[in-house]
This record gives sequence, C-alpha cells and structure tokens, in this order.
Amino acid sequence: MADIQKTLVLIKPDAIQRELVGRVVVRFEEKGLKLCAMKMTHLDEVTLTEHYGHLKEKPFFPSLLQFMMQTPIVAMVLEGLDAVDTVRAIVGSTNPRVADAGTIRADLSMNVPSNMVHASDSVEAAVAEINRFFKPEEVFNYEKFTDKYHFGEGI
Ligand code: UDP
Ligand code: MG
Repeated sequence: MADIQKTLVLIKPDAIQRELVGRVVVRFEEKGLKLCAMKMTHLDEVTLTEHYGHLKEKPFFPSLLQFMMQTPIVAMVLEGLDAVDTVRAIVGSTNPRVADAGTIRADLSMNVPSNMVHASDSVEAAVAEINRFFKPEEVFNYEKFTDKYHFGEGI
C-alpha cells in the first residue's frame, strides 16, 4: 500500500552556480510530486552540522560544510505517493558517476559533494528535516485538479 508522504529536497550550491535550479524543479513537477513549500536560504554551520550529523567524523565534513555555504540554497517540500523513496529514486545515488542514468545526479553532475540535490532518506528523516528548514505555516496543504492522477486511485 502506498502512503502519501512529504519529503525535503535541498538544491545545492553547485546547481545554483550552474543555473540548473529550474531543471531540478521540473523533474519533480513533471513526475507528479506536489510542491508544498519552497524558499531560498543561506545555511549556517549550526544547521548544517545538525543536518549532516551522521557525517561529522568524515574527513570531508569541513569541505562539505564550506561547499553548502558557498551560495544560498533552495529548500522545498514535495508531497506524493511514497514521496521519500520516489524522490530518492529520481535523485539517484550519492556518487553521480555511478548513479543510474536518468536520475538528476547521473544526468546533471559528476562529483561529490557537488551532486546537485539533497533528499531525505527515510520518513523519520523527512519529518525532522522539514521541521529543520520550514515553519509549519510555510508548508502548504492544498488541492490541485491533477490530484486524481497522482494520488488516490489514479483514474
Ligand atoms: N559527500 C561527500 N563525499 C562523500 C560522501 C558524501 O562529499 O564521500 C557529500 C555529498 O554531497 C552527499 C552528502 O555528503 O550528498 C551527504 O552524504 P550522504 O551519505 O548522506 O549521501 P546522500 O544522502 O546525499 O546521497
Ligand atoms: Mg543522506
């Protein structure tokens, strides 16, 4: 059974620098994921250390933080059936050179940390990450004419 879920995506500084924000957003929109929240913000060390806490001991952690603070990023919340796994599938695996062709990372990037996007990796992480980047009133629940195709019975 599919669940309706929300998940968090960050469009990273390499995508901002390379003027590929629209190309990222369109992939999620054309799939049928609903845009529930979107903003540009500049990340700080405290937020990033929390966000990438699982990588704190890694040698690349300081450069990852520097990279993520190079420009503002675009944060968004997407909603859809099994949105967490659906978005991860569209994003592709961490190393863009071995990610499946057709994914955002494989098609539009070559390297880490500059792999275009972050996406929540579990339902629990999605809840925590949405709360990290958005106030409740910044996340919108609304109906669209296309909901019948993308949610529910699909007819
Ligand atoms: N990263 C990196 N070097 C590595 C592994 C990861 O620079 O060897 C960066 C990369 O930008 C990645 C982010 O750290 O997207 C978070 O790593 P994670 O393992 O959580 O991968 P993700 O969930 O983003 O696929
Ligand atoms: Mg991760």
